[in-house]
Amino acid sequence: MIYVTRKASFSAAHRLYNPTFSDERNEAVFDKCNNPLGHGHNYVMEVTVKGLPDPLTGYVIDLKRLKDVLDETVVDKVDHKHLNYDVDFLRGIIPTVENLCVAFWRQLEHRLPSGELHCIKVYESDQNMAEYFGDPVSIPTYDMVPATTSLEVPA
Ligand SMILES: [Zn+2]
Repeated sequence: MIYVTRKASFSAAHRLYNPTFSDERNEAVFDKCNNPLGHGHNYVMEVTVKGLPDPLTGYVIDLKRLKDVLDETVVDKVDHKHLNYDVDFLRGIIPTVENLCVAFWRQLEHRLPSGELHCIKVYESDQNMAEYFGDPVSIPTYDMVPATTSLEVPA
């Protein structure tokens, strides 16, 4: 078996909080990541596909086609977006790197032109990353209500 990896990057905002928690509990659990109006990351993701090289092309998967699928199903939908509110396939999900791995897996799983999805890694920073190999996992969804801003100026 050969493992082929394509890397992609995107920038996005998110806020880590659980709307069923009190403000105090969100603060205690998520700390700085609970900033009501969110904060940003330059994310990097790595998608690894496994398979045997096609005898005619030598490819497990054509990396140019993998890039196109990745852009279409994930990158174009999350780049320069607020992950809590702007992305249809993340709606209601607490956007930790763990949950992003799983959500991205579900976006990609059945879209590969060849090979089989093996692993998705998402880096939120140079220090923090998660990886997912497709084991069954259920992710609860919550009613994420955008924070009211203090930027609204009364008429
Ligand atoms: Zn963050």
